[in-house]
Amino acid sequence: MKLPYAEPYKIKMVEPLTQSTAEQRQDWIAKANFNLFNLESHKVFVDLLTDSGTGAMSDRQWSALMSADESYAGSRSFHDLKNAVNKITGFPFLLPTHQGRAAENVLFSALVKEHDVVPGNSHFDTTKGHIEFRKASAIDCTIEQAFKTELEHPFKGNIDLEKLEEVYKTHPKDQIPFCLITVTCNTSGGQPVSMENIKAVRELSKRYGIPVFFDGARFAENAYFIKQREANEKDKSIKTICLEMFSYGDGMTMSSKKDGLVNIGGFVALRDEQLFKKASTFTIIYEGFITYGGMSGRDMAALAVGLDEATELNYLESRISQVQLLGERLIEMGIPVQKPIGGHAVFVDALKFLPNVSREEFPAQTLGVELYKEAGIRGVEIGAILADRDPQTRENRFPQTEFLRLAIPRRTYTDNHMEYVAIALKNIFDRREEITKGYEITEEAPIMRHFTVKMKPA
Ligand SMILES: *Cc1c(COP(=O)(O)O)cnc(C)c1O
Repeated sequence: MKLPYAEPYKIKMVEPLTQSTAEQRQDWIAKANFNLFNLESHKVFVDLLTDSGTGAMSDRQWSALMSADESYAGSRSFHDLKNAVNKITGFPFLLPTHQGRAAENVLFSALVKEHDVVPGNSHFDTTKGHIEFRKASAIDCTIEQAFKTELEHPFKGNIDLEKLEEVYKTHPKDQIPFCLITVTCNTSGGQPVSMENIKAVRELSKRYGIPVFFDGARFAENAYFIKQREANEKDKSIKTICLEMFSYGDGMTMSSKKDGLVNIGGFVALRDEQLFKKASTFTIIYEGFITYGGMSGRDMAALAVGLDEATELNYLESRISQVQLLGERLIEMGIPVQKPIGGHAVFVDALKFLPNVSREEFPAQTLGVELYKEAGIRGVEIGAILADRDPQTRENRFPQTEFLRLAIPRRTYTDNHMEYVAIALKNIFDRREEITKGYEITEEAPIMRHFTVKMKPA
């Protein structure tokens, strides 16, 4: 028999989780105004709110933390991090930042101006925010197949070259500071971009004289999918694939809270010295001196090790397999999910799951609250609440899809936890016909309302 995969680590330290009763959870979620963000974490048993900064560090990372160098300038830990980034990405210049959006702030301050356009594959929300804040616009050039949840496609994060060329043809060159490739594409569910597509984007952009940058938050997971799904990449190591991916770009922004395998941090990595000098000024204004940029020496030291571990095949195999395991279990149970399963999360299709809850009563939020009450599991709504109201009409916006996202933290939960989540969802699925009422909003902020919204049963 073929041996199954098993985690390439054993557990040295454990953190107890609090068990609770259905009555307690009913009470807690009501007091939290049916908003999962309002729950204190000890009232949650399995927390799948996000995979950002929620992973577990290794003993090697904890050791690096202890022996790090906290010097303000020229810290050894900075040099270790710079070498690690250079080894994995090939980019020679590094500016640390306190997290991913800070890296965007630094890089875009140097590159993006009013009326610019930044084409790419479904920009992440903070990325879009940093573009729009500068009165520029993000243009989504993701392939059409990405928007069909039932359609299987190996690289749903790919950029549509015709859409991209259209942007290049219809805008003057000095209005397009760069094309941004997000790997994997978070907004479309952690869907990967193929090496072939990255290369083609590079070639097309070169013809028009446009630089290419990466949003690399989940670059290692993207490299794993390239190895799995692209025929002529399957014999290459993950580190070789990463180097090749980044060879097609001029630089990157990184949220280290994802594939950096640390709890906080980020960076900008660049190929060009002139741009590095320009961006350095913004690092100093916004983040700190260029050899720490918002990170402590110990955080940089742990990140240097984390980047190395995140690009090891056996780690990625167990990481991605765990996410696939949960997705496949749900599919087996007949539960509607977005396909194919992405790299860091499973998206449950709430419109199909709860057909008796009207869109005005927020089916994905309803399912999220139900899952919490059922088993103390916390997911997040990716639907109408997140979409906010239309700024002009102030009407609710109803996006095409309503998902409950279950994001899996790295190296944190076991496969038993995944089975626990699957069974909890199945229990709700079995009684879905009885769920006919959702929630209505009693209080909300004018924008980004999902964090603080208050609700009551409809
Ligand atoms: C998380 C994320 C960011 C922002 O990073 P933070 O560390 O949360 O500031 C940017 N892009 C992508 C694709 C992300 O997933």
